[in-house]
Amino acid sequence: MSSVQETVLEINLAHLTHNFKYLKSKVDPKVKILSVVKASGYGSDAVTIAKHLEKIGTDYLAVAYASEGITLREAGIKIPILVLHPQPINFRSLIKYHLEPSIYSIRVLREFIAKAEELNQQDYPVHIKFNTGLNRIGFWENDVNYIIEKLKETDAVKVVAMLSHLAASEDYDEREFTLQQINSFKKSASEMIGRLGYSLILHQSNTSGILNYPEAHFDMVRTGIGLYGYGNEAKFDKQLKPVASLKSVISQIHKLEPGETVGYNRAFKAQGYIKTATIPIGHADGIGRQYGNKKGFVIINGKKAYIIGNVCMDMIMVDITNIDCKEGDEVIIFDNKDNAATIAEHGGTISYELLTAISPRVKRVVIDDN
Ligand SMILES: *Cc1c(COP(=O)(O)O)cnc(C)c1O
Repeated sequence: MSSVQETVLEINLAHLTHNFKYLKSKVDPKVKILSVVKASGYGSDAVTIAKHLEKIGTDYLAVAYASEGITLREAGIKIPILVLHPQPINFRSLIKYHLEPSIYSIRVLREFIAKAEELNQQDYPVHIKFNTGLNRIGFWENDVNYIIEKLKETDAVKVVAMLSHLAASEDYDEREFTLQQINSFKKSASEMIGRLGYSLILHQSNTSGILNYPEAHFDMVRTGIGLYGYGNEAKFDKQLKPVASLKSVISQIHKLEPGETVGYNRAFKAQGYIKTATIPIGHADGIGRQYGNKKGFVIINGKKAYIIGNVCMDMIMVDITNIDCKEGDEVIIFDNKDNAATIAEHGGTISYELLTAISPRVKRVVIDDN
């Protein structure tokens, strides 16, 4: 493969296919797969990722906000799209683009029914979200009565699914809590189904739920981070392949003498004779200030080069004193889970944040080996 000549995020679709198949192999063939493509497909490119997943047979897609779903519809995506966290102000366009809302509170249910009635909808599909312990969004177990009463008054909407979200499915120490969440969900589900008189698509698991809690697979699972190649745990990481690789190039090399400084506020001071490389990627591209001052690193010709001084808006400077390299050489910021997870950890964060921070300014290059 030829080396890159500017900052790019490579998106590997063969790896996406591999991860999708791996995750699918972990659930019963009857269980539907919902692929989460929020936040630009975890920082990659939502349309590219969603189109590929539609092609290889995902049953559902999910985004966080209505605007993200509209982008997918405008790109020609036809399969069901769940909006995980919609706001009432967007209900009109959500309905116009036939997106399925996750309804998470009494206020949101009331407002959605009102909008669906105003737009003369019949049996508009909605998912009801229950809070089983994450305490983020969702109805409580004892809201079932209210939900059913409200639904009885209208034929504009129809509940097609019920969901909840696990708080700590990647954490073995929280097993007891997770099992409680699963039980709470089962209890609300059987009440809802009993009262409605028909069955619902039940879904509760995220990626770690798929891998760690077969008892929480129900009728559909929601996978995000796993599709992009991260398993939250070494034994699963090995089975998954990273979809996104962030690469750049050496713009310029400097030789500095002891006492010279690098970057804004002269934050790095050379102790001896050193060599630095300037790379065209900065905090405006998603490499935050927390990676400066030797927290983060890049890889040049197989060797780690630490970021020295402060991260600039458009550039970082790295120490290449002991690396054999020249201007124009390729630089890898991350291309696998080891380096992405390590950089994230050094920056005091997690791979989810490192990935989703990559800004639109970084050119996306799709690699389709199929
Ligand atoms: C983001 C999200 C997911 C995906 O979680 P992963 O850990 O990335 O698999 C699933 N469900 C909900 C409600 C989410 O917000």
